[in-house]
Amino acid sequence: MIVDIDLDKCTSCGLCDPICPADVIHMEQNGDKEFPVIQYPEHCVTCFNCEIFCPEQCIDVHPIVRRRPLPW
Ligand code: SF4
Ligand code: SF4
Repeated sequence: MIVDIDLDKCTSCGLCDPICPADVIHMEQNGDKEFPVIQYPEHCVTCFNCEIFCPEQCIDVHPIVRRRPLPW
């Protein structure tokens, strides 16, 4: 299950919202930018899409495996 998004490294690109098949992550306005919020963590199917596709590698789905190597 998704455990953390490091908002200090997040660039607000928004990719993690549409790429999640379970609609867990939602972009929300925070100051003058939008940042991802883990809205429905209980719906996470642990597919690792968000962690793999985040260009800043700031999402952790698994608490042990950090900075998962890219599959390509
Ligand atoms: S994909 Fe990564 S950098 Fe982009 S909004 Fe999501 S957490 Fe931030
Ligand atoms: S691991 Fe998959 S289901 Fe869970 S938040 Fe990330 S993209 Fe969504």
